Amino acid sequence: MSSVSLKNLTKAFGPVKAVDDVSVVIEEGEFFSLLGPSGCGKSTTLRMIAGFEEVTSGAIELDGQDVSGLPPEARGIGFVFQNYAIFPHMNVFENIAFGLRLRKFSESDIRTKVAAALEQVGMTGLETRMQSEMSGGQQQRVALARVLVTEPKILLLDEPLSALDKNLREEMKYWIKDLQSNLGITTIYVTHDQGEALTMSDRIAVMNEGTIAQVGEPREIYEHPGGIFVAEFIGESSLLKGKISAVSDGHCRFEVGGQILEAESQPGLSSGSEAVMVLRPERVLIADTEHSGDWNGGPASVKSTTYQGPTIRTLLDFEGQEIVCESANRHDAPQVEPGQKVFVAWPKDASWLLTQD
Ligand code: ATP
Repeated sequence: MSSVSLKNLTKAFGPVKAVDDVSVVIEEGEFFSLLGPSGCGKSTTLRMIAGFEEVTSGAIELDGQDVSGLPPEARGIGFVFQNYAIFPHMNVFENIAFGLRLRKFSESDIRTKVAAALEQVGMTGLETRMQSEMSGGQQQRVALARVLVTEPKILLLDEPLSALDKNLREEMKYWIKDLQSNLGITTIYVTHDQGEALTMSDRIAVMNEGTIAQVGEPREIYEHPGGIFVAEFIGESSLLKGKISAVSDGHCRFEVGGQILEAESQPGLSSGSEAVMVLRPERVLIADTEHSGDWNGGPASVKSTTYQGPTIRTLLDFEGQEIVCESANRHDAPQVEPGQKVFVAWPKDASWLLTQD
């Protein structure tokens, strides 16, 4: 197990700064995801850590040693690509043995290590299969075994599930997470899929235009996003604009139209600040009567409803602004029609204030 420290890491392609002054420490044994939209610099960051891309400035330290100038094979890193990258003319055994043969291991060591790697990825007995005889999930397991057999200190995974269909992706994400926690290997995982990042990671760095917008545990990123970009990128959110009218002990009184709400805020907001309240749709309720006590809300009207199978999505007008409510499709789900007057409510502790910019 090893730690990885990125220090002011920057990569410029001509005038484009693909990665711009990124600093973060990834702890030993951690499952750390780089998450963000296409083009935000995730893969470039990973490729610099692996040594496939030169660093423009800054440093990459593995266990405190600067490896920025070392070639990939001298870094002790395993890299799994999105398109499996297993050799089609070799069977499973030979694919996994390939890296060991390069390193001149004896035949008996190779047999022992390949057998152990196959067991790790649940592929024992499939040694003689060719690529064309395997499902996408099996091929990705072989790709992982091929990397794990070399006993890397760090595992880098670049969108390893993106070529798989949805059901297999769901299954594989739990499988990879279990494998990683059993092995305890420090893992950096690149994805644009927030569901994958939230499910698998110990911590997530959300990237935007070459920089890190926020680093945190999944719950922190989802429930206390550090800015509007993160709030909108991770999950769906309603953003209510208003003004903070009082602050005490980190709790704010927040005025939206004629309604007075209460919420916690990110640091730095003060009385008189224009702000945005972030609400997650699954925390919003539609009711016949007004909620009080620990609840925010007030009168609202229904703009539309959409049947989504497991959930019903209702768009509400609250003080001239839109709130999305997503209710589980249960027998007690609210039955409402467009134009209907209702009350909307959400817990004060599911209300989070951000600056407007
Ligand atoms: P995706 O999810 O689409 O792979 P990403 O977040 O991994 O996106 P990168 O591939 O790291 O993003 O690219 C970041 C930026 O750097 C983009 O603007 C991209 O066009 C640019 N870029 C990446 N590689 C090169 C290259 N070899 N030459 C020029 N520009 C590049």
